[in-house]
Amino acid sequence: MSDDCLFCKIAAGKLPAKIVHQDDDVVAFVDIAPQAPTHLLLIPRRHVARTLDLTAEDGPILGRIVEVANRIARERGLEDGFRLVINNGPGAGQTVYHLHVHLLGGRALRWPPG
Ligand code: AMP
Ligand code: ZN
Repeated sequence: MSDDCLFCKIAAGKLPAKIVHQDDDVVAFVDIAPQAPTHLLLIPRRHVARTLDLTAEDGPILGRIVEVANRIARERGLEDGFRLVINNGPGAGQTVYHLHVHLLGGRALRWPPG
């Protein structure tokens, strides 16, 4: 855990969030400023700042995140239209430096994203 990290605090239950899934490795919660009817953030419990910090050894945690995202998407009937997004760095709009995967769905999603 990183002491100053917002998402580490959410994962540890020290800050409130609408948690929709949690296990030993992954936590999923509702984005505080939703951009779609379903807008969740999926994070590894372990603090990783951004995708640039990932290596091949982190493959399993990314697989777990996708597995959880798929399960939630199916539960919500989003199979035919959802998007997983990771913003890396300020130029891509990353504002929280604990790796998170956005799960967006429930409306038409245009391409390319802004
Ligand atoms: P990004 O721009 O990819 O770094 O995404 C950060 C996301 O975290 C944004 O969509 C914010 O709305 C969301 N966010 C920031 N603070 C919180 C919080 N306390 N609880 C839930 N989501 C948050
Ligand atoms: Zn963190």
